[in-house]
Amino acid sequence: MTAKNVHKRFGANEVLKGVDLTVEPGQVICILGPSGSGKTTFLRCLNFLESADEGELTVDGQTVEFKSVKKKEILSVRRKTAMVFQNYALFANKTAKENIMLPLMLAQKLSKVDAEKRAVEVLDKVSLLNRADFYPSQLSGGQQQRIGIARALAINPDVILFDEPTSALDPELVGQVLALMKDIAKSGVTMVVVTHEMQFAYEVSDKVVFMEGGVVVEQGTPDALFNHPKESRTKAFLSRYT
Ligand code: ADP
Repeated sequence: MTAKNVHKRFGANEVLKGVDLTVEPGQVICILGPSGSGKTTFLRCLNFLESADEGELTVDGQTVEFKSVKKKEILSVRRKTAMVFQNYALFANKTAKENIMLPLMLAQKLSKVDAEKRAVEVLDKVSLLNRADFYPSQLSGGQQQRIGIARALAINPDVILFDEPTSALDPELVGQVLALMKDIAKSGVTMVVVTHEMQFAYEVSDKVVFMEGGVVVEQGTPDALFNHPKESRTKAFLSRYT
């Protein structure tokens, strides 16, 4: 997936000022940065949950211009990506399994039987097969997020976009979700992760991107970015975490 020159403004506030990002198949990219730098907005633009004002996006060989993208193209590109949300975004009145089946049936047009088969597979992958018929309110935050991740995995997307997936969790539940994300990363799934989990970013990323003020300030390998940052803004940000 490649995004080029992504711009987004909310009224007078230009939140993204020309952001570029390339993630190769199988790579994990973590996006770091202070709150308010535009990280979430950028991910949402990649999934068309926000409409970017300018720039282009290529996923799996299909390129669209944000300014002139058609509804049909949005549907087609969106089917190739999946998003994991900070607040899980599960339907409260659907079971864990149904939450996974719904996008398979609605967006991917699988039959109910095939959707159920796939849901069972991914529930097993996130070790929650025994919670298939539970409602979100009957699950811990960590389990709900693992369902959110299973729902993303189920559609076998080109890339999974994670928007601060552990930031709403109680500290004791963060580990299980990060462990699952590590497993998924190892299995070769392409991931773009907005996170404040520095250790995770250091251990798991192929590339770390530091954003501030709506621009990519610096990017590089975890070693380069964490141990030898070049930009003063990167250094200042990292020093707050050590
Ligand atoms: P980050 O994820 O880095 O914390 P965000 O993308 O959430 O940053 O926010 C970047 C800026 O965009 C903030 O100033 C925020 O107030 C603004 N913003 C985000 N969403 C909206 C919106 N829907 N309407 C107006 N302003 C928004």
